[in-house]
Amino acid sequence: MTECVFCNIINGTLKGEFVYNSDEIVAFKDINPQAPVHILIVPRKHIATMNDLTEADRALVGNMFIVANRLAKELGIADHGYRVVVNCNRNAGQAIYHLHLHLLGGRRLGWPPG
Ligand code: AMP
Ligand code: ZN
Repeated sequence: MTECVFCNIINGTLKGEFVYNSDEIVAFKDINPQAPVHILIVPRKHIATMNDLTEADRALVGNMFIVANRLAKELGIADHGYRVVVNCNRNAGQAIYHLHLHLLGGRRLGWPPG
């Protein structure tokens, strides 16, 4: 058991409802969905925040967006539209300190966000 909730989902200690799984990225349903579709796209590598990305993560970050693109199509939200969000640190309300994309869709999303 590590301290990190998402590392524990990735290593199987905690349950996740997976919708995508590869050797570098997983995606699972958010436990507290804020929209009809709310998926978290998570690198297997523990990166605490967006501030901790380096040049070495360039391909990984690109691949996370490709997974979002693919899941948006598979989950039927691509045409109507969706939002991809990264929360970084306190002012953005980051709760889990393991980098992730939120993929949100299935309803009209307000702007600006709260
Ligand atoms: P953030 O504020 O960007 O760090 O978002 C963390 C997200 O993780 C929130 O939307 C939570 O609902 C979600 N979350 C927390 N614990 C779990 C879990 N065990 N399984 C799935 N999603 C979770
Ligand atoms: Zn982690």
